[in-house]
Formats: sequence, structure tokens, C-alpha cells
Amino acid sequence: MFKALQLSRKDDQFAAKLVELEEAELPLVQENPVTLAVEFSTVNYKDALALTNRSPVVRKWPMVPGIDGAGTVAASAHPGFVLGAKVILNGWGVGESHWGCLAQRARLSGDWLVALPQGLSTRQAMAIGTAGYTAMLSVLALEREGVSPGAGEVLVTGASGGVGSVAITLLARLGFQVCASTGKLGETDYLKELGAHAVIDRATLSAPGRPLQKERFAAVVDSVGSHTLVNACAQTRYGGTVAACGLAQGMDFPGSVAPFILRGVKLIGIDSVMAPFEQRARAWARLASDLDLGKLALITRGIALEEALEVAPALLDGQIRGRVVVDVNA
Ligand code: NDP
Repeated sequence: MFKALQLSRKDDQFAAKLVELEEAELPLVQENPVTLAVEFSTVNYKDALALTNRSPVVRKWPMVPGIDGAGTVAASAHPGFVLGAKVILNGWGVGESHWGCLAQRARLSGDWLVALPQGLSTRQAMAIGTAGYTAMLSVLALEREGVSPGAGEVLVTGASGGVGSVAITLLARLGFQVCASTGKLGETDYLKELGAHAVIDRATLSAPGRPLQKERFAAVVDSVGSHTLVNACAQTRYGGTVAACGLAQGMDFPGSVAPFILRGVKLIGIDSVMAPFEQRARAWARLASDLDLGKLALITRGIALEEALEVAPALLDGQIRGRVVVDVNA
């Protein structure tokens, strides 16, 4: 038997609770199945949507949520992962259409796994989680577009959230000047400790604005979407790059093409869920080498499995700072 959170829906009645399941109940996997003894998971924005049923994230019922997991291989039919190997899982629809890692056991395809990079523990990997891995994918996108520390200020929106906190930490370590946009000005000291050189009120970006505004930012990492993303594009300098990875304000893009056709601004979409293996492996290798683990500890708080049920609504209401790691065995 193992402990898991389980989401169910019957006659439009949604329930989320801690249950005990048998290993035989784990879903079958055709391609290279691996059974994972999960050590740590996390509560990402998408997990919070699933745990609260606030958005139709879950595609099959009942569902074990948890889009991220890190732990030890307990059984493997995948040639690349032997018994006892430490691995990370992010995305691939796990926790949405396939049982996930807010549980002590998960059966996954070995093709979805990344080996835990040297220098990171399974807990640190989950402190990073999909949010941090997405922040890294965003930084890699800026680098691919030639954005360098000398280019000028980089705006990070949703700054006190998971993606934002890791993005600031990474960019600051790489030598970028980071401007953090937040609704929590009370967290200014925290954001500066992560490495932000300037902190601005997100209200300056979240309302409708002019199509072209004063050029300020060389690049942007945006986890907020909607008017914030539109204004961020409108304030991006000639030839700059905007990495769009989130929708905390909204999924809409109520803007104009002016920054793209008059200033050559590039808008790059970031997807972590189906990102190909090479991109994942590269992102995780860079996280292991470039992320300041002292700062990661500052970003992170730990909870037990059942507490994820309380944290989820608070996270969606913007009340959680940084990242939440779930010790599934606590
Ligand atoms: P968090 O909840 O940790 O952070 C989101 C932050 O956005 C909040 O802390 C808050 O920061 C800000 N925010 C919240 N509500 C609003 C609002 N109404 N208007 C403006 N800002 C707001 O979530 P994550 O960082 O984990 O994820 C952020 C986004 O990125 C989510 O939309 C998520 O779905 C998306 N995402 C996308 C991925 C991908 O593959 N593309 C992968 C991972 C996440 P503050 O108070 O500092 O302003």
C-alpha cells in the first residue's frame, strides 16, 4: 500500500483527499515502464488548478495529481534507468491524464524521465520543479536569441511566484540586471536578496496601455500573460526578446503587433510539458551548474503530502511566495 492524493468527480461532485492505494492499481504503461519510489513532489500552479478543480486540468478520473516528481527507480523496463537510479519527472501530461507524483509511488514511462543531475538532491530538484525548469527554459530562449548581460535590464513578471523567483535567481547569477514586477511590494527585500536590482509594482503593467511605450527592457520573462505581457512587449527595446511562459493574470493577449513590426521585438513561447528530451536535459544540466542553491533554499518551503490540499487555493490566490516542496513520506 502507498499514500497518495486522489482527485475524483462523480455526478459533478469533486473531491480531493489523501488515500491509500495498492501498487497493482497504478496505471499500466506500454513503453519502457518504470516504477518510481517518489521522495519529493511539489505544488505548481497547474497542480493547484487540479487540486482545487478551478480549471479543467484533469482529463481522467480518478486522478492522482502531481506533474513533478523526484525519487528512486524501484522497478524498470527502461534500459537507461537501473534499479536505484535517481530521476526527475516533469510534465508529459502526468498529473493530468496519467497518475502523477503527489504519491509515494508512480508508474511512468522511462522515456519521460531525466536522470537527476550531479550536485542536486531529489529535494532540490523538486524545489526547482516545473516552475524552475520553465524559468531555465525561458533563460535558454533569451540566450538563444543573443540576449547578453550587457544588453540591458531584464523584466521578470510574477516575480514572487515560483517561475519568477527562480528566473530572478538564475538571471542575477548570470550577471543580468533584473527588474522584478510584483503585486507584493512587501517582498521587496526578498526579491532583492534573490538578485533583483529594481522592484516595480505590477499595477504599472497590468492595466491596458499604449501599443508602444518608452523602451526600457532588453528582454522579459513573463509568467503573467494578458495586459502585463502586452505592456512588457510595448516596453521592450528595439530587437529585444520576450519569453512568454504563463497566464497568472490571464490567457488573453489584448495587444497590438506594433512592438513586433516597428521595433523587431521577438515573442518566444515557452512550453515545459512536451519539451523534447534534449531541451529538458540541457535545462536540468544548466540548473545544476548555474542555480545558487543557497538562494533556492530561501525560495523554498517544505510541506507534507496532505498539506498540498491547503496550499493549492492559497497559491492560486497569489498568497504563496516562491516554491513549495512536498515530502510525500513525511
Ligand atoms: P505562482 O502562483 O507561484 O506565481 C504566479 C505569480 O504571478 C504570483 O505569485 C504573483 O506574483 C503573480 N500573479 C498572480 N496573480 C496575478 C494577477 N492576477 N495579475 C498579475 N500577476 C499575478 O505560479 P508559477 O510561478 O508556478 O507559475 C506562473 C505561471 O506560469 C502560471 O500561469 C503557470 O501556469 C505558468 N507555467 C507555465 C509553464 C509552461 O510550460 N509554459 C510551466 C510552469 C508554469 P506577484 O505577487 O509577485 O506579482
